[in-house]
Amino acid sequence: MADDAKDLSRRDLMRLGAAGVAAAGVTGLPVIAAQDAAPSKLPTRRYGRTGLEIGWLVGASDWPKELIPRAVNAGVNYWHKAQVWTAETMPPALKRQPRESYFLECVVDRVSGDHTRGKIDEEQHYQFVKNRLKASGVGYYDVFKFHFGYHSVEEAKSSPGMVRAFERLKKEGLVKHLAISQHHYPNIGGDMAWEIMNYLADKEPYEATQFFYTYNDRKEVQEWIDVAKKKDIGTIAMKTMGGVGRAAQDGKFKKLLADPKFQGSTPAAAMVKWLRSNENLTAAVIATKNFDQFRENSGAAAGLAMAPQDREALGLLAAYNKGLTCLLCAECVSACPEHIGISDIFRYERYARDYHELDRARAEYASLTRNGTSCAGCGDCLPSCPQEIDIAAKLKDVHKLLG
Ligand code: SF4
Ligand code: SF4
Repeated sequence: MADDAKDLSRRDLMRLGAAGVAAAGVTGLPVIAAQDAAPSKLPTRRYGRTGLEIGWLVGASDWPKELIPRAVNAGVNYWHKAQVWTAETMPPALKRQPRESYFLECVVDRVSGDHTRGKIDEEQHYQFVKNRLKASGVGYYDVFKFHFGYHSVEEAKSSPGMVRAFERLKKEGLVKHLAISQHHYPNIGGDMAWEIMNYLADKEPYEATQFFYTYNDRKEVQEWIDVAKKKDIGTIAMKTMGGVGRAAQDGKFKKLLADPKFQGSTPAAAMVKWLRSNENLTAAVIATKNFDQFRENSGAAAGLAMAPQDREALGLLAAYNKGLTCLLCAECVSACPEHIGISDIFRYERYARDYHELDRARAEYASLTRNGTSCAGCGDCLPSCPQEIDIAAKLKDVHKLLG
């Protein structure tokens, strides 16, 4: 732990985190800037059995549209959640390229409910993809991705509807590869993401995976990345930047970061370099709001290996996050007698405090059947939290923010 970071008390950090959100709401984020800076060229890696060579930084359809030409120039060639684009909203920077030069991913959700209550329904998933293809005119999607994934290994064995929808579409040449974006489900009696992904790795036709992964994550996730590499399963890390957004708006944190020992690094750049240094990880999807963020992330992904100041910056961020930022490991969830989806609730808090997407966070929070008010304050969850978060207190705080 960086010594200076130890000086930040937990109460200070909680207070500053909330203030960060307030500031973001008033001032907004930096506008697209430095338009003329030359983008760095991203490395590519093989996306497991799909065989696709994808840029290390994954693009997303919710990035600002002004950013997309820059991202394409920098080598972003794989686009997450591309099903939202219609023929009218498809970025011209992609439309003008040969179709085979970039990869579009269609994420497919459960139907008749959210990711915990919704159902797998072959026909509806099949029709969903057909309709999105009709609306977009892109011809085919490179990757069909089961969004949020299975609740358990048992469900993966007994509910083949998603796979069957994929296979029908593949036969018609409308999709090419099957991937899964897997969450943890202990709050509804299900399994952890790596348990489900380990099962799928030996079962065709899944070829690639996406999952939470960040600095100081559980060893099981790191082990999964190594196993996936051996089995030629693609791996994309998501929710990698816990605490980075709130730290960037925190005056105390910024003051600490001004120390010469961090010079030339930032927590975001250091995190990107740390992720990229894992040769077994294919790529990362990182929420990006403006050109400055993109430049920082793509520069780090395309640049040199981690320097000592990057390690210092990651240490500073880790210390800042202690007691404050949930890493979404879900370790606490199975301990909760009230079956509260603690890590889902804290994921929404991250949307608000790190991505500054308060409306989205409130909408997600509103859809929960059990929110922070269901917490009985029993403390059963506390011993399991590697972040030493006072979970009951944080649930109250988050309810104030999002409820
Ligand atoms: S303190 Fe709240 S969140 Fe933690 S185990 Fe008890 S009821 Fe669940
Ligand atoms: S509150 Fe702690 S144990 Fe629970 S998901 Fe977050 S980091 Fe993990």
